[in-house]
Amino acid sequence: MSKVLGIIGGGQLGMMLTEAAQNLEEISKIIVLDPTENCPAVKVGAQQIIADFKDEDAIQKLSELSDIITYEIESGNSDVLKKIEVHTEINPSPDTLRIIQDKLLQKQFLKNNNIPISEFAKIENKEELNQMIDKMGLPLLLKTRRDAYDGRGNYKINSKSEIDDALDLFSGKSLMVEKFVKFEKEISVIAVRNTKGAIVTYPVVENIHENNILRTTIAPGRVSEKIKKQAEQIAEKTMEVLHGAGVFGIEMFVTQDNEVLINEIAPRVHNSGHHTLQSCNTSQFEQHLRAILGMNLGDSSIKYPTIMYNILGPRTFQGEYDVLCPKKDNIFLKMYGKLESKPQRKIGHINIVDKDNLGMDKLLSQVEDLKKKLVIEPK
Ligand code: AMP
Repeated sequence: MSKVLGIIGGGQLGMMLTEAAQNLEEISKIIVLDPTENCPAVKVGAQQIIADFKDEDAIQKLSELSDIITYEIESGNSDVLKKIEVHTEINPSPDTLRIIQDKLLQKQFLKNNNIPISEFAKIENKEELNQMIDKMGLPLLLKTRRDAYDGRGNYKINSKSEIDDALDLFSGKSLMVEKFVKFEKEISVIAVRNTKGAIVTYPVVENIHENNILRTTIAPGRVSEKIKKQAEQIAEKTMEVLHGAGVFGIEMFVTQDNEVLINEIAPRVHNSGHHTLQSCNTSQFEQHLRAILGMNLGDSSIKYPTIMYNILGPRTFQGEYDVLCPKKDNIFLKMYGKLESKPQRKIGHINIVDKDNLGMDKLLSQVEDLKKKLVIEPK
């Protein structure tokens, strides 16, 4: 019997989950809970409850209308989800969400399970911050524990003179510090477990950030076999200790000493997995649904090397926009249906696919060419 799927969040991830769900006969209807009227998921056919992600009544209503619930954001209300878990299946599990959505709990959990991470500590006041700077050295990252994304909750402290500014910026928020990792590369692994316990990982990819925002993903990543193996082992171990089913995006650093450390985990489909829409037989979106529905997991190998380039709203304007993108049979443009472009917000992505086996260097130069020709302009 086919099921009604409830998704907390109807942004671009909810939209691509909706599209994948529409191709599965196991799902009959998709309902998203999102505060933005006519959000991206609704544009492709999902129904919507318009409410804040943390609204208890709205989550309750979603659970009454759905057979199974998942989420595309980590800022959901894990306490409310825990309550409704008694009568509606939710994956990944609310307990896992509770751990992951608090960066401090997440790091403590990883440490307790002997998964490699950078040194970290809880910070409650200026004195403790000073002590940690003395212990860990500078630079140091001051992080808000919750509700931060695209680096918005991070402050890199380079000298003790910046302490007051850093604490003022995050005044009233729970904080932690992390030793600054001098990394060679940022990589990630999309990992998935289904409700029966089967685990699959996608090949390691390489991520390039600009101003803390993911800009480019190179799939597969240009890393040694040894690093690949380490990253895959870390991802598998993480999946074994985290509860619940679904796709997880596991972000990692490759240090200058060739160590692999986890930066953070997202309990959801992940921007660095968008390449799978064209590079793999089973996209991360379909895979997530297969996992939470208890179906067999699909093939996660990369058929075609692919570079994913995020389209961000230009800094120069906010409002309705047009996109001019070169057309070629290996260029796949995916816009998220957002009415307005806002500075530095993700409005779409492009997958550039190596269908003709040209090699990564040629593909990278195609991306450089594409960047010059891509135009986002006011309507
Ligand atoms: P986050 O939102 O915590 O994942 O951080 C966003 C970006 O900040 C990461 O992709 C890294 O580029 C950088 N970052 C986060 N934590 C650290 C760290 N401990 N050392 C160095 N860079 C970091």
